[in-house]
Parts: sequence; structure tokens; C-alpha cells
Amino acid sequence: MTIIVITILLPLFIVKGCGIGIEEAPYIEKPKEGKDLIIKVYLKDEDRVAEMGLEEYIKGVVAAEMPTDFGIEALKAQAVAARTYAYGRMTKRYAAANNPHPDAHVCTDHTHCQAWVDRKTAMKKWGILNAFRNWNRVSRAVEETEGIVIVYEGELINALYHANSGGRTENAEDVWEGVSAPYLRSVASNGEEEGPGYRTVTEIKTGDFIETLRDHYPDIRVASGDLLSGIRINDYTEGGRVKTISIGNVTLKGTEFRKIFSLKSANFIIERAGENTLKITTLGNGHGVGMSQCGADYMARNGGSFEEIIKYYYKGVKLVKINLTEDRGQEARGKGNSFSHRSVYIVPNSGNNNIWRWEM
Ligand SMILES: [Zn+2]
Repeated sequence: MTIIVITILLPLFIVKGCGIGIEEAPYIEKPKEGKDLIIKVYLKDEDRVAEMGLEEYIKGVVAAEMPTDFGIEALKAQAVAARTYAYGRMTKRYAAANNPHPDAHVCTDHTHCQAWVDRKTAMKKWGILNAFRNWNRVSRAVEETEGIVIVYEGELINALYHANSGGRTENAEDVWEGVSAPYLRSVASNGEEEGPGYRTVTEIKTGDFIETLRDHYPDIRVASGDLLSGIRINDYTEGGRVKTISIGNVTLKGTEFRKIFSLKSANFIIERAGENTLKITTLGNGHGVGMSQCGADYMARNGGSFEEIIKYYYKGVKLVKINLTEDRGQEARGKGNSFSHRSVYIVPNSGNNNIWRWEM
């Protein structure tokens, strides 16, 4: 019987899989009337704004933002952080400066908002052997945390996150001047060295190094002989990243140096790699503020629940559930869930719920 079913069904899957044409992508399910909060998403590749249900959008973010073989509790923590991020923008509590997509709440550019992929495209990319398993994990992470967001003293938080902290996360104000939040504080982040993107080595010719700096600082003067002797790291942030670095007569922030040389992080050392070559080694991947995705995976694999992960990376926060149905109309006007005691309730402790990872 099983063989017959497989014989009949498998060709169907294959035909269906091959039938995903470009005209169908991205595949977006119609939001369910009265059931979904609607989010407006600027699809960067398509250059258009699409409307979709918030929970469907979150599935696409989890699928795009985190490897699906990460612990299920990490995937859930990702879903909660992504939902909080999105809801903060939907309700206009948080907005990007010089917002390039005023007609949409978020965009699909991961360097600006959050990465997102539609279900069909994700499944096609994963391949037929993994597609259903992976999508099931993503769906489960989102459905088991449905509507849950993060608050600090009753206010929705700005749920920033990054790929790999390199061992310690950052205080928000050390990365963005003037951006400070009591819940975005530096914490040790274990197990990062086991995650992807922990250490990256970049080699650059000294001539190119100076040239690149000169593009940004035309008046820079550096030692013509030993370039390294003119480079000095002055101080470090609490998260262990370079705070300021002096090169010749110019002093710049570590974050600025990172940007100029497109480095994975501002946690770097510079060494000589040869006669005319410098070697820049970075630890971590991303700005380092808020939840580390690799750190979340490490916690999940060691028995941490999504709630423990969230409360570890965002200090002093609580989890609450937003109403995904009743406030639909109000939400569009920015008057959605007010996070008063009437409209929210505290999600009970989920404990050490690590049973899922053995089932995958
Ligand atoms: Zn954006």
C-alpha cells in the first residue's frame, strides 16, 4: 500500500514542484478576513508593496533569517523577535530614519528591515528532500508562538537581532549614537564559536587599504613605511568591539571602520599578512545588538526555551500576546493593542521545553 501511495504521490509532487513558474513567485496567501492582522511589505526584488497576514509574513522571515536546522526553540525565539520587530513598525512605534518605503511597514531587504521569502520559493531552494520538513519546522515555530511579542515595562520593544555576536552582545548606544534601551544591554553569548560566521579573515593590499580610507578621509596622512605602526586601537566597547581606532592623523569609530571595509563586525584585529598585505580578522557577524541567532541556537540545543532565550538577550522583558483579530481595523491607524493590562496577558512560563528538537 505504501509503495502504491508513493508511486502515485511522488510524481505529483515532482510535477507540482517543477510547475512553480516565475509568474507565481512570490506566492502570497490571501489574508483571511477578520482573522489576520495585515502587514504591508515592500518586496524589494519586485519593487512593489504586497499585503499579507502578519503570521504568514513571520513564517517567511523565519525561513529567510535563520537556518531551519537550528534548535526549534531558537526558531521560536526568532519568530517572536521578528513579530515584535514587525509589529513595532506596523504600529509606528519604531520607524527607520529616512524610511525608503513609506507605503509599507517593512521591506524584504535584510540590511534594512528583515529578510523574507515566500513559502514556494523557500521550498524550491531547500529541494524536495528537505522542503516539507523545513517548512514544517518554520510553521511550527510561528504557530506555537502565535501573536506573542516582547514588551518592556508595558511598551513593545525594538527587537533587534543579529547573526553571531562573536562571544558578547553590544550595548545599543555603542553601535548607534543616541539609541539606548534598558533591554538592549551587552551580555555574554556562549557557543558562538560553533555557529556559522564566527570568524572571518579578510586580506587587503596596503595600497588598497590607504586608497579606501582616502575615499572617506581625503586629508588622511599615514606612515609611508610601516603602515601598522600608525594604526592604533584606542578603546573597546563593553561588547569587546573596537570603539575607536586611529590611523595616522585620523580617528574613527570601530563601526565606521567596519562600514568602510564591509567587515562582518566591529570586533576585529589587524595584522601584517605579507610584504604589502594586511590581514583583518573579525569575530561575529552583524551589529551585535539584541538577540544573537547563533547564541539562541546554542541555548536551544542546551535545553533553553524560547522564552528563556528572549529574556536572556533582552533584559527585563516580558512576553505578551497581541490580539490578531479584534484590533485589525485599529491597527492600520496605529491604535492597535495598547499593551494596557486589558489588552494583553502575560504568557505563562513555558519552562524547559526542549522536547521538539529530538523529534526533528
Ligand atoms: Zn526596510
